[in-house]
Amino acid sequence: MPRIFRPYHCVETVTDLTLDRLRELNLDALLLDVDCTLKRYRDTGVSQEVGEWLGALRQAGIGLCLVSNGRGRRIEQFAASVDLPFVAKACKPFPWGLKKAMREHGFHRERTAMVGDQLLADIVAGNLAGLTTVLVRAVHPEEEQWFTRVKRPPERWLLRVMGLGKSSSSD
Ligand SMILES: [Mg+2]
Repeated sequence: MPRIFRPYHCVETVTDLTLDRLRELNLDALLLDVDCTLKRYRDTGVSQEVGEWLGALRQAGIGLCLVSNGRGRRIEQFAASVDLPFVAKACKPFPWGLKKAMREHGFHRERTAMVGDQLLADIVAGNLAGLTTVLVRAVHPEEEQWFTRVKRPPERWLLRVMGLGKSSSSD
C-alpha cells in the first residue's frame, strides 16, 4: 500500500493530542480539519472539551490553522467562533491549501501535523505536503453530505488493508 494513504498516527479524538503528546512527537503546529474532526458536521461550534483543548494549545504557543474543504462563509463563521485562522475550499487531497496555511503562518514542515478524519482527503493531503499526519475517528460521519460519505467504505477498506482496522492506535 503506498505510503501516501498511511497516517503517521491514529487517535480516537483530537483531545488525545495533549501538549505532552505533541512534545513527544516534536510538533509545534497543527493544521486542523473542521467537519467530523473538531465538531459534528451540523454543529456550528465546538464542544466545551474541544474548546478547552484549543485554548490550552494556543496558550502553550502551538500554531493552529483550520484547513477545510468547506465553503468560505460557513468555515469563516466557524473560524470566528473558535478564534482561529483558516483556509477554506482547500481542495484536499491536494496539498495546496495546507501549503498556503504553512506559508502564511510560518509553520515548519518537520514540526507540523495535519489532523483530520478522512484518509482520502486529510491524510493524503498531509502526506503530499510532507507533514506528519494524524487520523482521528470521525465525529458522527453519518451527518456529512453524500459526496463525503461515499468515501467512507473505501477508506475503511484501506485502513483494514494497512492493518489499522478499527483499532485506535498505530504508534
Ligand atoms: Mg472532515
